[in-house]
Amino acid sequence: MSKMDNLRAMREARYAEAQKRAASAPARPKAPVAPPAAGGSASTAAPAARAARGEAPAAEELCGHRNMGGRTCTRERGHAAKTHRYS
Ligand SMILES: [Zn+2]
Repeated sequence: MSKMDNLRAMREARYAEAQKRAASAPARPKAPVAPPAAGGSASTAAPAARAARGEAPAAEELCGHRNMGGRTCTRERGHAAKTHRYS
């Protein structure tokens, strides 16, 4: 009986601790967008680095419009067609 009470107390303590931690530290510093004051070198270096890795910069050439289903338009950026295409 007391063992069960112990377990429950531990669980509740841990839960309260997690709640407290979540409330006190809401914003974890997770890779924010580089501030423009950083010299602007990041914006020019990123595509080059991506190309060096052999990744096609396809994402940059797409329209990128999102439909309601969360899909992304696969037409080229600024496409003339009035409709977006999601495939
Ligand atoms: Zn589109």
